[in-house]
Amino acid sequence: MLRTSLLIAARSAGCRKLVERVPFTRNLVARFVAGSTLEEALPTVARLTEDRLVTLDHLGEDVTDEAQARTTVDAYARLLGELDRAGLADRAEVSVKLSAVGQFLPADGEKIALDNARLICEAAAAAGTTVTLDMEDHTTTDSTLGILRELRVDFPWVGAVLQAYLRRTEADCRDLAHEGSRVRLCKGAYDEPASVAYRDKSEVDRSYVRCLKTLVAGSGYPMVATHDPRMVAIAERLAAGAGRSAHDHEYQMLHGIREAEQVRIAAQGGRMRVYVPYGDEWYGYFMRRLAERPANIAFFARSLVGS
Ligand code: FAD
Repeated sequence: MLRTSLLIAARSAGCRKLVERVPFTRNLVARFVAGSTLEEALPTVARLTEDRLVTLDHLGEDVTDEAQARTTVDAYARLLGELDRAGLADRAEVSVKLSAVGQFLPADGEKIALDNARLICEAAAAAGTTVTLDMEDHTTTDSTLGILRELRVDFPWVGAVLQAYLRRTEADCRDLAHEGSRVRLCKGAYDEPASVAYRDKSEVDRSYVRCLKTLVAGSGYPMVATHDPRMVAIAERLAAGAGRSAHDHEYQMLHGIREAEQVRIAAQGGRMRVYVPYGDEWYGYFMRRLAERPANIAFFARSLVGS
């Protein structure tokens, strides 16, 4: 119930104004977001890449006009140029939300998003790194996988994200478990109806394991995105059982969450990638992190009362 309310609030302009006005919000946001500018985020990237890999997200989603979408492309081009200049492009890639490059625009949104994503892929290729397309709510899944297919014709290294809470995802895992494919498997962060998604945590976890089995048994490159120690342990067992080396798959976690576990996986020789968001448009991302964990909400609520 609380999770659903927070996820609805994540898309409300009114709630956004309210939350942004709370003085202590910034402190909590700083736990999850590496800075409001690229310059603020780069030292975090440099630190993390000493023992881990990184994927950077220039925060933003649901743009409402083409000019905003173009601004997102320019921000990614600058980011990729800086990663290259700083010598970080071999350890840091980028994650892109298609809604930030125009997917939801009423006229030709999909085509605009495809063209813009292509520009980001060209910049990534020039820098010598890769792009993963984040997955948003279920109304975008077909469109995002369609754009992925088109991009992969010229940029076969573009990664996809699949969400285990969706009932369709086992089938999508089978489709994408092929040679050359990079798939990030997460549980899913949006509020989805029972008609398309498992709503019960144990059902989501069981789906996650089934999807993991498919990806690990396939010939693609699984990216295991979870902070759930049970899921990590199962992934480790499945990967070992399938004879996958540490370089044949990777683990992914969000910046600011379970850092000790990130360090443990990296220290044991595993490929551990941290998702690092930065920028001013932190509201939607932050609200989804609150919704994931009651303790975060309690901390935030105490800040509200105290402000
Ligand atoms: P859970 O069962 O939710 O959590 C397991 C444990 O992890 C918790 O008990 C807690 O200890 C810790 N934990 C989890 N979340 C938090 C938190 N917010 N704060 C503090 N501790 C926490 N979702 C999408 O829908 N689309 C995407 O493109 C996407 N990309 C992602 C990329 C990465 C690298 C990761 C790690 C997640 C991504 N997600 C994405 C979010 C994901 O779908 C889940 O919402 C999120 O990871 C929580 O699920 P969990 O697997 O960690 O398991």
